[in-house]
Amino acid sequence: MKKIKKLSETRQAWWFFCHEDQLWLLSDNSFPMASLEALGYDFDRQCPSYLLDYYQGKPCILVDLQHQGVQFQSGQWHDMRSVLNLFAQELALIAGRACQVAHFIRTHQFCGQCGERMLSITWEVAKQCKSCGHRAYPRLSPAVIMAIVKDGDVLLAQNKRNKGGIHSILAGFVEAGESLEQCVSREVFEEVGLKIKNISYFGSQPWPFPHNMMIGFIADYAGGEIKLEPNELIAGGWYNASNLPEIPGPHTIAREMIDHVLELNQQTTEQIDLR
Ligand SMILES: [Zn+2]
Repeated sequence: MKKIKKLSETRQAWWFFCHEDQLWLLSDNSFPMASLEALGYDFDRQCPSYLLDYYQGKPCILVDLQHQGVQFQSGQWHDMRSVLNLFAQELALIAGRACQVAHFIRTHQFCGQCGERMLSITWEVAKQCKSCGHRAYPRLSPAVIMAIVKDGDVLLAQNKRNKGGIHSILAGFVEAGESLEQCVSREVFEEVGLKIKNISYFGSQPWPFPHNMMIGFIADYAGGEIKLEPNELIAGGWYNASNLPEIPGPHTIAREMIDHVLELNQQTTEQIDLR
């Protein structure tokens, strides 16, 4: 990923136009793929642009339109959540990266140390203060997300913020100076009062709302009774495939982990039945 000094008018590319946390899609819900010349879009060519990645052999370019409220022809602005649901993982990840870099550019215009204007560095994605030299990189906020398993059932809870009835696995932000495993144990104890063991890594998912990194773990129940933290949770319990409430949709690591745990439970039950 790096800053582009000057946009080419003739190079074919995938375009990720960003404006206030929204991305521009054509009316058939695809990202524009053409040269700027062919697109004929009217915008300030000096606004920040970055080479994000390559997709199907073509460069993916972020153009952060900043204050310009440009409305192009044939298409519309979409927020990142709807973009995440529209695209398969590869393109969704690049779109998420576009949003995160645009958010970084917008929120690091001035130095947090001395208040002077920050300038973009050209060889990596960073901003540097021209006065005191303080350098800032795109912020990442790590959060752990964990599936707690007890006799094949998974712990699901409904967050207070989630009025729709969706139950999910627990999650929480990593605190400064804490290991990921410590965070998993602390969050589980704080949110539902349970002790856990056998914490193992599952996988991760960048979550660009606005700059989270979800890190998934699976752990076994080790003791205690469920005691919901009333400021965060309104419901919670042990679930399996036969009594599953509404759970998060596809394209989320939470869903992937719930499916994984329940599938393992299914396989174990089948093996017991065969004996
Ligand atoms: Zn400074």
